[in-house]
Amino acid sequence: GANRAKNVLILMSDTGGGHRASAEAIKDAFRIEFGDEYRVFVKDLCKDHAGWPLNSMESSYKFMVKHVQLWKVAFHSTSPRWVHCFYLAALASFYAKKVEAGLKKYKPDIIISVHPLMQHIPLWVLKWQGLQNRVVFVTVITDLNTCHPTWFHANVNRCYCPSEEVAKRAALDDLQPSQIRVFGLPIRPSFCRAVLVKDELRKELELDPELPAVLLMGGGEGMGPVKETAKALGESLFDKEQGKPIGQLIVICGRNKTLSSSLQALEWTIPVKIRGFETQMEKWMGACDCIITKAGPGTIAEALIRGLPIILNDFIPGQEVGNVPYVVDNGAGVFSKSPKETASLVARWFGPDSEELKKMSENALKLAQPEAVFDIVRDIHELSREQGVISQISSSLTSSFFISSPET
Ligand code: UDP
Repeated sequence: GANRAKNVLILMSDTGGGHRASAEAIKDAFRIEFGDEYRVFVKDLCKDHAGWPLNSMESSYKFMVKHVQLWKVAFHSTSPRWVHCFYLAALASFYAKKVEAGLKKYKPDIIISVHPLMQHIPLWVLKWQGLQNRVVFVTVITDLNTCHPTWFHANVNRCYCPSEEVAKRAALDDLQPSQIRVFGLPIRPSFCRAVLVKDELRKELELDPELPAVLLMGGGEGMGPVKETAKALGESLFDKEQGKPIGQLIVICGRNKTLSSSLQALEWTIPVKIRGFETQMEKWMGACDCIITKAGPGTIAEALIRGLPIILNDFIPGQEVGNVPYVVDNGAGVFSKSPKETASLVARWFGPDSEELKKMSENALKLAQPEAVFDIVRDIHELSREQGVISQISSSLTSSFFISSPET
């Protein structure tokens, strides 16, 4: 009936914080926009319903980002279409039964994939089961610029691209304009709708109320040259002549416990806060004046919403490399691999070059797309209604066919 809550299944894998963050963002936005109309399940389908090697995807991802060369090889060697199609076809036949069990369990009306490897297998199973016209299938891409071709599948109802650049790639990969929408990267509603006052945040987070603040992080796993950069900032943000700090430092280490304990052990001449995995990133970002991070799409999109100029100091080869020009060419930040250079740039921003900081902050806000996640769920809602009308018409056609056929 029309009043039945619809089931939404979001397929993700915990490879880095980004995919899970996007999945949770979409789930929250459904609840805010549509309340009980949708029941949303976020599932790491591979982990729950398949065996090796897909359930080891997460740990092999962590291994590979630590061994970047390997990751580079894996990323590029699976890029040509014939390679990934063959590879995925083999995987699809192997995992189809388990994926099928997952689909049976959640009975989704809508499937949302936020992972580059979760188009082919579920779509293949839907087709095989004759469900492809009953289930709305959409992809939400979570890479800002360069993205892996496995993201694109011609049989999706929609492919949501975070930027024009990605949309161009989707079009080159045979997606039709009617399938492509560009709204931005989905960010948690708690993040984009938060009304935050810097002075209050600083009080709440026990930061210095006056000193400009730099936030240093490296994604969910605390990757990149965080420690070296923290040390360099400790020097560059201390004015030796005056004998006092010109800025304060907040380091968010994510799940990297080794990093946080080794930073805790150091002596500091400037105010420093060292934190582990934080669940309220919007507050930490809202309390700061600029950010240093690896080129993770989630962190970048969030920083733009908060109007933080960004210093990118690292990227995961392949998938994150395109995020660098996205930030730099739009005047919202700079790229520097050198901790020393980064640290002295922050010191200049907090001193003589404050105008540059302000300009970049304005550019960041221009690039920000805080409404993206809401645009996406509203569009999915529309799609699902259209689909409902179509399947009603087709089922009434079939039933009238069955009713009238005995008479002929
Ligand atoms: N994040 C968080 N708490 C932390 C560290 C990171 O909530 O302590 C979030 C961050 O806000 C972002 C995501 O984790 O939403 C990181 O995603 P990104 O795409 O930047 O990098 P990844 O970790 O996926 O490589």
